[in-house]
Order: sequence, then structure tokens, then C-alpha cells
Amino acid sequence: MNDLSAPQVEKKTDLLGMDRDAMQAFFASIGEKPFRAGQVMKWIHQFGVSEFDEMTNLSKALRDKLKKVAQVRTPRIVAEQHSDDGTIKWLLEMDNKNSVETVFIPEKNRGTLCISSQVGCALDCSFCSTGKQGFNRNLENWEIIAQMWVANKALGCKPKEERRISNVVFMGMGEPLLNVTHTFPAARILMDDFAYGLSKRRVTISTAGVVPAIDKIKAEVDVSLAISLHAPNNPLRDELVPINQKYPLEVLMPSLHRFVEGGHSKKHVTVEYVMIDKVNDRPEHAHELVDLLQGLACKVNLIPFNPFPNTDYRRSSNNAIHRFRAILEEGGLNVTVRKTRGDDIDAACGQLAGKVADRTKRTLHRVEFAQGEQ
Ligand code: SAH
Repeated sequence: MNDLSAPQVEKKTDLLGMDRDAMQAFFASIGEKPFRAGQVMKWIHQFGVSEFDEMTNLSKALRDKLKKVAQVRTPRIVAEQHSDDGTIKWLLEMDNKNSVETVFIPEKNRGTLCISSQVGCALDCSFCSTGKQGFNRNLENWEIIAQMWVANKALGCKPKEERRISNVVFMGMGEPLLNVTHTFPAARILMDDFAYGLSKRRVTISTAGVVPAIDKIKAEVDVSLAISLHAPNNPLRDELVPINQKYPLEVLMPSLHRFVEGGHSKKHVTVEYVMIDKVNDRPEHAHELVDLLQGLACKVNLIPFNPFPNTDYRRSSNNAIHRFRAILEEGGLNVTVRKTRGDDIDAACGQLAGKVADRTKRTLHRVEFAQGEQ
């Protein structure tokens, strides 16, 4: 495959992460026609080809030219784990210090791929294990779309066959809206007919609430939106989702209304609400949530909390979840309860860890400790 140690590699242009406009600009820059962009995107994304010599409808001369100036760089699969329920988790090495996790969740009528947008996460939500590791860096376009590329290949997906990956959610490690420069082009590739051709209903960006970037979605990528709400009032949300201190509910909620406004009749926001025992699962929280979501086209997804080492939080009881759900439904909301998948391989929501070369102070002492032990 790619020899990353070859000295000239640094100068080559990476093609995997280029959306259609970028690919056309690239071909123009090497004096080639724009239609080459679609041809090469098909080879890369639909046929899973990373070697130019396998792109047989390109002339030998063009293939040789491409070999000199470009590459299709792909990550190394470090580990692949299978859950009893069919969920698959891949650990992908992006550089020699960092790896991220990607999860495939098969269901009866669809297959969802959960992809990461950053190495670690800077938001430090109190109930999420990814945040506990600190933040290292944003993933590049190619590193984000590579997760789809690898999963398709690993699952043996062929073009024109029924899609095993029918939906993609940016719900892995990281905050996608703090990395829009790279997540937006990756989302465009997911929806491009020359690549994966997913409809915008089937590509979902999940955010803890980065308001200025929520306002950019409609114009720049027009994907579906999920908001990790988790609390119906500011004091509790400040504690669970600290970015709320920057964009509190009175700023966040109008941005969600703006997102659905003017859209088609089915356009809505998915509201995610992790159910934590005795923290945010009381009846009064449910009533507050009904009031908060009044008039917003939304669907509420209740997520039973998934535990991880060194957390004091516990999952809400089934009774508490049913009671909460009933109050929301009485208030006229559309509610689903997420089935926990892949928790036997730590692939459930909030359990993704990867390998983060941490640069933040938060876990510095742990790193030093580990080094001292050697
Ligand atoms: N930063 C983005 C995307 C990553 S989190 C966001 O906040 O939306 C993806 C989803 O998993 C979010 O709804 C998140 O709140 C939820 N989640 C995180 N930790 C969890 C845990 N321990 N148990 C259950 N869900 C969790």
C-alpha cells in the first residue's frame, strides 16, 4: 500500500479528502479536464481503489502523472472488534501518535456508521469518556472520510449493491462543529453521487451546541442536525455540557429554530438526552424539557448513560426512563429510547477512547506517570 516513509510523500497531494470542487481544482491545477474529478472520486470511494494503476479508464500517461504528484493516503487498521450484537469497532491509526475509533451499528433496516471528527475532545462533558482524555488535534478531511472508506472496504461493500452503510453520524470522538473546515468537506463527499451518494437525511452532525457553526450548516452542507442537549436548564447544562457557559440555552435554542425554519415539512432536529440516574432524569426535568422544546420541530432520543471507568454517574433505571418518556409524550413530543449497542466492546456512545497523544494539562500527570514507569 502507501509507503509513508518514502521521502517524496510529504509533497504529494492527498486525494481521499477532496470534495468535488477541490478535486476539480486539483485537476485544473495539473492541466487536466474537470470530468477527471468524478472519475477518480468513483475509483476511490465506490471501488475502494487507492493505487492509480488500478484506475483503468485513465490513460497510462495520466496515471504516471498522478503517481508523481498525488496519493490516496489511507489509515492503518490497528484493531477490529466484533460485538455479540453485530456492532463492529475499528481503531484507525492516523499518525504514529494518534488513533481514533469508528463504529458500525447494523440494524434491521439500516446500517449506521459512527465516525470521529477529532483526536480526543476539548469540551470535557462530565459524562463522556472521550472528553476525559483531553484533546490533541482536529482530524483532516481525508482522516474523516477515511473512516467511511475503511468501513466500506472492511464490510465488502460494492457499488450499486444495497448499501450496508446507509447512515453516517458524526457522533464518535470529538466535536464536529469545532472542526468545520474538515467535517464539512467530508460530509459533502458522503453525499456526493460520485462518492457515497447518501441523502442529507442520512448524514447527521451531532453537536454539543457550537452556535455560530450551527448557523453555517444549512448554507454550506445542509445535513441533518442532532443536538446533545442533556439538560433542560442552564445550571444543570453548565455542569454536564460546559460549552453551555459560552452558548447558553437562550442563545442555543433560537439557533435550532433557525435551522429548521424554511426547510421542508419533515425537517427537524434530533434532541439527544443522556439519562443519568438522579442527575437529569427526574419528572421535573421532563416537564422543563417539554416547555423548552415547545414549538421546535424535533425528535427526542433518550440515551441510557453508558458507564466508563472512574465515573460516579450511573445509568437511569428503566422505570425512570419510562416515566420520563411518558411525560415527554404527554407533552406532545416524539420520543425514542436508544438501544445500547456494542457496549461489550466499549463501542457505545461516550465510550470511544482511541489513542490520544494528549497535549492538555488535564491528563498530563497521567502521561508523566506512565513514562516514569518504564
Ligand atoms: N461532540 C458531539 C459528538 C460526540 S458525542 C456531541 O456532543 O454531540 C455523541 C453522543 O454520545 C452525544 O449525544 C453524547 O452526549 C453522547 N454520549 C457521550 N457520552 C455518553 C455516555 N457516557 N453515555 C451515553 N451517551 C453518551
